[in-house]
Order: sequence, then structure tokens, then C-alpha cells
Amino acid sequence: MKIKMLNNETINKIAAGEVIIRPVSVVKELMENAIDAGADQIVIIIEAGGKNRITVRDNGCGISYDDLPLAFKRHATSKLDTIEDLENINSLGFRGEALSSVSAVAKVQIITRNDPEELGSLAIFDGGKLINQRVCAYNRGTEITVRDLFFNTPARRKHMEKDKKEELIVRDLAQKIAISHSGIRIQVNCNDRIVLDTKGTGNVIDVVKELYGVDIANNLIPLDYENKPMKLTGFVGNLKTLRNHREDQIFFINGRYIKNNHLAQALDEAYEGYCMKHQHPMGIIFIELPGRMLDVNIHPAKTEIKILNESLVCLLFKQGIRETLRNANLIVDVGGEA
Ligand code: ADP
Ligand code: MG
Repeated sequence: MKIKMLNNETINKIAAGEVIIRPVSVVKELMENAIDAGADQIVIIIEAGGKNRITVRDNGCGISYDDLPLAFKRHATSKLDTIEDLENINSLGFRGEALSSVSAVAKVQIITRNDPEELGSLAIFDGGKLINQRVCAYNRGTEITVRDLFFNTPARRKHMEKDKKEELIVRDLAQKIAISHSGIRIQVNCNDRIVLDTKGTGNVIDVVKELYGVDIANNLIPLDYENKPMKLTGFVGNLKTLRNHREDQIFFINGRYIKNNHLAQALDEAYEGYCMKHQHPMGIIFIELPGRMLDVNIHPAKTEIKILNESLVCLLFKQGIRETLRNANLIVDVGGEA
């Protein structure tokens, strides 16, 4: 077989496949863009679990008419200049891949207005191609609607779960983002039903009450622990909130929701002697670490994150939780063990 270069359309579809796996990937990328744009209100509308329609509307800074086509090009970003910036990245995005990926595998309409401009723009993309762009009146912010996800990648389309399941995955993500961004009012609307509506008060506990109810919220112990270079805030559950699963152990590192089994393990270990083998404490935990201790760039979707010196981080983490439990008189240590 002769070696030849792939054409751009194929390259984009392959790249899109790494970022956009199912409806929730679209919602995640668009919500992260809204947050990076400084929005304090985000509305998400999905139909048929997101397969037919996903709309994300924000009141952030918007995109200017001239920048709009570029925003949908691969590797185009306003958030990163050089590789050194990655260590101190404050934005959720930086790879400049989301909009190009979404538009490569769906039909996309965007309406946006960048604050200083008087008029907004409306553009339509189909399978990655810009079909039409014109000026229009619009409020400050951006609304992106994604229809017919994977219409041109049938293998991916087949791999989606039933609508209800995809919807639940989207709701779960929106809840996690709502917890980590309690200052943003987040509304999720599924098939014309409001399934999440946070107030955006800036108090995490208000979101927790909304999601878990007041009873659970009353059984959470606030975390506030610092042991350089780590800082922990959030909540851990008292012994009334023990569960037989780990779904309510939620971790954020520098504001980003992440999954990490070692941290989950460390949380369980902090409760050692106070719960049974199959029981797991609740935890909604915000971990702050210096950017140089993290590599967020190991996977395009960025839910996995590499913590350098992870065993030390887990140890400090466990100590922090243990001390918090002790201060709350939840556990009484004999012999001062950590
Ligand atoms: P990244 O977020 O990694 O920069 P994206 O493809 O998600 O890449 O977005 C490309 C660029 O488009 C962003 O860097 C940003 O400048 C702009 N953009 C995307 N979504 C929004 C939004 N909702 N509001 C304002 N600007 C946006
Ligand atoms: Mg982005």
C-alpha cells in the first residue's frame, strides 16, 4: 500500500473522535468554554439525551465577528500562548480542539456577541464546514446549538446509549460543574423539563442542598485544611452518610472535576476503624495544588490528570481529612496516629 497524507476532513474527524465521544462530551466542552468566557449564567437544553439537540447558552464575553471562523479551526485558542503557560493554566480549555471537533461531527449553529461590538454574529457549520456567517442582533454572550450528533460518523452514533442513559450522564456532569462553580447559575432542561436549577449564590453548600437535600447537607463536615503545598476545602460526610458505593466521593483539583482512585482510597483510609469494608464516606473535596505538580494534558478530555508525586499528595490529603474528623470529634485517636 502506498503511503499518502490524509485529507483535512478525515484528520478532523479522527481528532474529533478523541474529544467528542458522546453527548456529554459536547456539553462538557461547551460548559467549560462558557466558564472560561466568564459567564455567571449557563443554560443547557438537551433533547433525546443530546442526540438530537444540545444547546448551551451563556452570558460570557462572546466571540467577535472576525474571530468566529478561527474559533472553529483546530488548534485555535485564545487561552494559551506557549507551552510554559500550561503550568499556570487558569482556564479549563487550552487545546483549541473543542469547537472544531464538535463541528466536525454534527450540525452546529452559533449566535454570539462580543461585548464591545454592537452587533452579534450568527454562523452555521455542517460537518466542519462554515456554511454561512452573518451579523445579527444578540445579547452579550454565546449560544451554541449542536444537532444530529455523529450524523456523519455512523459507528459512533451506534455506540451511544439509550436517550435516558445519555441524559443521566449529562445531568451528572452538570451537577459536578455546578458544585465546582457555585457562583454560576446553571440550569439544565431535558425534553422541556427543568432538571437542575442552581441559584449561583457562590456558596457550595447551597448547591449541595439542591442536589442532595438539606438532611445530607446537615451531616457534612466542612473541610478547611492547609499543609503546603496542598489546600483542601469542601465537605466530608459524618458517619450517618456512609454509603456502599463511591459515587458521592467527588474530587476537584484546581477547580477541575477529576477521577482518581488513589484519592478515593485515601479518603476511605482516613475513616479507617469507623466504617466497614464495604462502606465509603461521602466527600465533596476541592484540592488546590501548584500547577507545576500537575499535568492536565495527558488526555484530550482532561478528566484524567496526572499528579506528580501522587503518593505524597495522597498522604497529605489523608492527614487533612483525618485531622478534620478529629477536630469535629468524629474520631478519637488513641496514641496520636495520623
Ligand atoms: P479552547 O477552549 O481550548 O481554547 P475551543 O475550541 O473550545 O478551544 O474554543 C476556541 C476558542 O473559541 C476559545 O479559545 C475562545 O476564545 C472561543 N470560545 C469558545 N467558546 C466560547 C464562549 N462560549 N464564549 C466566548 N468565547 C468562546
Ligand atoms: Mg474549550
